[in-house]
Amino acid sequence: MKAIVFHRHGAPEVLKYADAPEPPLPSNEVLVRVKACALNHLDLWVRRGIPGVPIPLPHIPGSDISGEIAQIGADVSTVRVGQKVVLAPLVSCGKCAACVAGLDNHCRQATNLGYMVDGGCAEFVRAPEVNCLPYPENLSFEEAASIPLVFQTAWHMLLARAELQPCEDVLVLGAGSGVGSAAIQIAKFFGARVIATAGTDEKLQKAKQLGADYLINHKTQKIRDEVRRITKKRGVDVVFEHVGTATWDDSLASLAAGGRLVTCGATTGYDAKVDLRFLFTRQLSLLGSYMGTKSELQTVMKLVAAGKLKPIVDRVFPLAEAAAAHAFLESSSQFGKVVLKV
Ligand SMILES: [Zn+2]
Repeated sequence: MKAIVFHRHGAPEVLKYADAPEPPLPSNEVLVRVKACALNHLDLWVRRGIPGVPIPLPHIPGSDISGEIAQIGADVSTVRVGQKVVLAPLVSCGKCAACVAGLDNHCRQATNLGYMVDGGCAEFVRAPEVNCLPYPENLSFEEAASIPLVFQTAWHMLLARAELQPCEDVLVLGAGSGVGSAAIQIAKFFGARVIATAGTDEKLQKAKQLGADYLINHKTQKIRDEVRRITKKRGVDVVFEHVGTATWDDSLASLAAGGRLVTCGATTGYDAKVDLRFLFTRQLSLLGSYMGTKSELQTVMKLVAAGKLKPIVDRVFPLAEAAAAHAFLESSSQFGKVVLKV
């Protein structure tokens, strides 16, 4: 089969469009003929190399996958050949205490398709049967592939971790990112008031179309000052963080007393300071979040199929141009997802 393969870590040029062996099929897995694979920042980290994480080389990246089931293992019973499918990215053991409790994002053996195992930047990918999600028929393959990772992550952050309540104020950083555009929609669906930030006015207008109530251009305005002005000095109940060092101080300063900061990433760096006096006197909560559960993703898929949440696709590249797609994502000029069409 054709696939995007890298033999060493580095710049986008290490991604080669090459022949690769078709993956073997264990009895409890399915072989999917990939139609689209959406990119995430995780793909960039995996390609560059992560200290202490020995990614098996050569490696096929790609976590967010849609396609058709081409073959099923002998023990597979819930899906059939030819069926359209979206894959849940998180592959967990299915047997540990966390997994049987439905908290598969706490499984110590969990990884993502395209992370410690081969992913979907290929004509075929194998995945466990339990990772097959119902296909939302109102979406193209490119749109469907754009849902799982970012919507699952944003959902887990806002609901499971930050416990968002109706009418609360939420500051969504990086509205142009995949998680940002998902977070705006989820927060609005639950009746929150959303303040969104982005680096260009064009991106801010798109955030507004998704339902953002207030807009901050972080290139020309100071986030904490604008939040103070918009909330009449109160601050926001929830800050949706994934940017890291560049926004951390503003994020903390934007919280109302009793506010919760929830973070799933550190795109601009992971060094951050906290003034402990500020943390305890204001009774703030700092919350880490990682991926989401399959159950949460099932709920997301229902809302997507019902038209309540929608994936935002910025640009589609052919699979062979994966290096250009990575470079485009690295430039941060996108609004929503960058997708490879297979
Ligand atoms: Zn497990």
